[in-house]
Amino acid sequence: MIALYIHAPEEEAPWSPGAASHWWLHHSLAALDAELRLRGAQLVIARGPSLATLQSMAQATGATSVHWNRTYEPALIARDATIKSALRAAGLQAHSHAGNLLFEPWTVKNGSGDPFRVFTPFWRVCQGRLSEVGPPLPAPAKIRAARPPAGIALAALELLPQRRWDSGFAALWSPGEQGAHARLKEFLEDDAADYAEMRDRPDMAGTSRLAAHLHFGEISPRQVLAISAATLERDGARRGTESFLREVGWREFGHHLLYAFPHTTDQPMDVRYTHFQWRPDAALLRAWQRGQTGIPLVDAGMRELWHTGWMHNRVRMVAASFLIKNLQQPWLDGARWFHDTLVDADLASNTAGWQWTAGCGADAAPFYRIFNPVLQSERFDPARGYLRRWLPELARLPAEWLHRPFLAPAAVLAAAGVRLGQDYPVPLVDLAGSRDRALAAWQQIRTPAEAQPAPAARRRPTRR
Ligand SMILES: Cc1cc2nc3c(=O)[nH]c(=O)nc-3n(C[C@H](O)[C@H](O)[C@H](O)COP(=O)(O)OP(=O)(O)OC[C@H]3O[C@@H](n4cnc5c(N)ncnc54)[C@H](O)[C@@H]3O)c2cc1C
Repeated sequence: MIALYIHAPEEEAPWSPGAASHWWLHHSLAALDAELRLRGAQLVIARGPSLATLQSMAQATGATSVHWNRTYEPALIARDATIKSALRAAGLQAHSHAGNLLFEPWTVKNGSGDPFRVFTPFWRVCQGRLSEVGPPLPAPAKIRAARPPAGIALAALELLPQRRWDSGFAALWSPGEQGAHARLKEFLEDDAADYAEMRDRPDMAGTSRLAAHLHFGEISPRQVLAISAATLERDGARRGTESFLREVGWREFGHHLLYAFPHTTDQPMDVRYTHFQWRPDAALLRAWQRGQTGIPLVDAGMRELWHTGWMHNRVRMVAASFLIKNLQQPWLDGARWFHDTLVDADLASNTAGWQWTAGCGADAAPFYRIFNPVLQSERFDPARGYLRRWLPELARLPAEWLHRPFLAPAAVLAAAGVRLGQDYPVPLVDLAGSRDRALAAWQQIRTPAEAQPAPAARRRPTRR
């Protein structure tokens, strides 16, 4: 057996992995190599193109079969199909395996035999089939490794940034299989019981933070399911664990959608949104990216993302809604930024998350549900711990003004040493006015049947 990693990011274009993913990948490959060495093998690293590299490696080593786990990004499905036929035509055995999902996307269908477009019935069907998911196989204690061919050093891939913006990453993340299992264990022991209540609180470390580990295949959803089973049996933790597994179900659903509707990575699922009147503005986009919008919860989230490579799900929804609706910037611009900066950047989940928020995806929030970032902040960061952590320039403001510094009296701002427009920005847009402008733009594309609800209902936050 020879374990081979071929680096070919250009083969994933236009969604080649971003800078934060590269950081994770570097450490994940190092961890994989260490694990393999404990078992008598090692990781051989090579550069693409993938097919030519596989062919030359097979020839050099006398390999007779090639195995890999399937991924579902459209560019990779096309590439892997080409590789499979070319290897088979050359007399090699080529096998792809199911390891990244609980169910292969083409096996979950609605009553009419079509792909699901709504999550709840999709997950109900998946839950009914969980007993089909066999137990994960243990890792082999010893690997019969063949003499490895020459590869290149990990450092030669230059995955780590030259300008070290990643100082906040190492403190938070432990890429690799061991880190993934430690993270799951800690979550199940400490946080699973309260997950249903705490998953919406960005000031608490109440979620699993497993997304990047899952994306990079360091732990499989099958392992997550099997290991969580014991917690499901524990009194008091069942509800939280079920809620957590339901989120793993959203990951499945994202992949299901990506497989069935591959064009949605770049185009809205709801075609009416191709005519939506966006107002692209590089300066607004940049202010959002830098956490300088003047809206505290949005800025705190964007800074958390930049410093740690992760953002809490609740804040992802609020920050995305603000960009798309209040600033009327194209959802794809936001999706590209997340793809570059998230350590858990994942084409399936990111596309689904952005289209959900924009209102143009499958099972999406209606466009007229525009998150009010101030109310969201009051509700989900009640003690202001999240805002204080990421917005130190506002830390001396009395609590009542932290969610809305732009409404604070001048004397209060002066006493806290905050000069709006200098220490912290004035809001890029007026929240109420920009909301009305977004709704007016939406009126241009909505169907007559899509009535806008009464104002009170519109302000109610959505569950997700
Ligand atoms: C605009 C936007 C963009 C997003 N981009 C991504 C992305 O690129 N990659 C990504 O993995 N998730 C993405 N999400 C979904 C979600 O925010 C993250 O999966 C979650 O915050 C990761 O943190 P966690 O591992 O602590 O999640 P937990 O709350 O612990 O959830 C457990 C696991 O379930 C999965 N999961 C949870 N929520 C979702 C969801 N809404 N959709 C799909 N899977 C989910 C993840 O694999 C996660 O690790 C996005 C959401 C939004 C609103």
